[in-house]
Amino acid sequence: MADLFTNITKKLSEIQALENLSDKETAFISIPKKVNFKEFEVKGEKMSAWRIVFNDALGPGKGGIRFHPDVSEDEVKSLAFWMTIKNSLAGLPYGGAKGGVKFNPRLASDKELEEASRKFIDAFYEVLGEDKDIPAPDVYTNSQVMAWMLDEYEKKTGRHEPAMITGKPLELGGCELRGDATARGGFIVIKEMMKKMNLNKANLRVAIQGFGNAGMNIARFLHHKGLRVVAISDSKTGVYNINGLDIKEAVKVKEDKKSLEHVEPKSGDKISNQELLGLPVDILVLAAMENQITESNAGKVQAKYIVELANGPVTHQAEKILFAKNILIVPDVLANSGGVIVSYFEWAQNKMGNMLEKKQLEKLFKHKMSDSWQKVIDVYEKHKEKIDLRTAAYIIAIQKILAAEKLRGNLK
Ligand code: NAD
Repeated sequence: MADLFTNITKKLSEIQALENLSDKETAFISIPKKVNFKEFEVKGEKMSAWRIVFNDALGPGKGGIRFHPDVSEDEVKSLAFWMTIKNSLAGLPYGGAKGGVKFNPRLASDKELEEASRKFIDAFYEVLGEDKDIPAPDVYTNSQVMAWMLDEYEKKTGRHEPAMITGKPLELGGCELRGDATARGGFIVIKEMMKKMNLNKANLRVAIQGFGNAGMNIARFLHHKGLRVVAISDSKTGVYNINGLDIKEAVKVKEDKKSLEHVEPKSGDKISNQELLGLPVDILVLAAMENQITESNAGKVQAKYIVELANGPVTHQAEKILFAKNILIVPDVLANSGGVIVSYFEWAQNKMGNMLEKKQLEKLFKHKMSDSWQKVIDVYEKHKEKIDLRTAAYIIAIQKILAAEKLRGNLK
């Protein structure tokens, strides 16, 4: 399979042609500004780590840190690019960045996890900071990891600076909305989509791939709203019931036993992840990892709408096949932007030293998500629906970044 960044380059060539961008303009959004790479040892094992700032024309770098055995420079660079687009589209005062450590935290003790978190900061603290580059959690990193990282950073720099990292525990300046923000944002976008496409919730069937923070919480929101979630999956297995699953029970099983393998057989039929992707549903929510729908399985997708809570779950070639089949994809840079929007609230509150009421934040959050949706739809309609929503989102985000580069005098 092609590298993730190759998919991005192909998309950028399309945007270059559509928007008549010069090679110089295209280079600004195709080449990362700074790739930081270090190696460190945890319990005698050497680990590779990256922190990449893709672009910072709109503000400091912003993006999570992933701990995963498959982390590579290609992956971190691609994730940093998507953060650049996502932050610009959401109207946040941030550039885009991402970090990663090639390591499996599921095989590590808490002590090793803490050591890896602190070593990451020891390696990169000079390029991080509330006005330089602000990390957050991503796959297999959480609020405890952020707390260790903040503590290590403040020890290194000798002063308090809570806004240097987001996704922290509440006691250390975290934001109440952060826990389920990505799914909450995805849910707002799905509701907007239902309104726009005149979809009646009583008739809708939804399948969700991935049952972690993003997947499990969106399942909860959809189930609560009265939509029928008929299939879910995690890395080990999937469950399918055409009449709808008992999501409360599935959440309990996943939380207690850590795997959907333990869901009662009477709840539904066991299915594989590949089978889930090809089910006859209306909405398919992708909330696991990259490259899940590719050229080889795109033809089997029966859903009419795909919502990308995961980053990069559909490859470039697959996107073309789905477009030809009239399947609408709500892209990652829009659908999963809720996490970084709440991170922005946390950062702003830490910098100002005051706290807004949860209700005020919820209102602002809803407004920002719906506004991003509307901006994307407006460009999509301006192009008479001949482009996909990802292209529309990229056009908005890239034009803003290029305008900022021009105003700075970096692009003549
Ligand atoms: P998580 O670690 O909480 O959950 C991931 C889930 O996916 C787990 O249930 C895991 O078992 C499952 N999974 C892994 N590989 C799978 C596979 N091949 N098939 C099916 N399931 C598989 O992670 P998360 O925070 O929910 O993140 C999921 C995706 O959403 C990632 O792409 C991440 O970058 C993206 N995302 C998350 C956030 C956030 O705030 N959590 C924000 C933006 C984007």
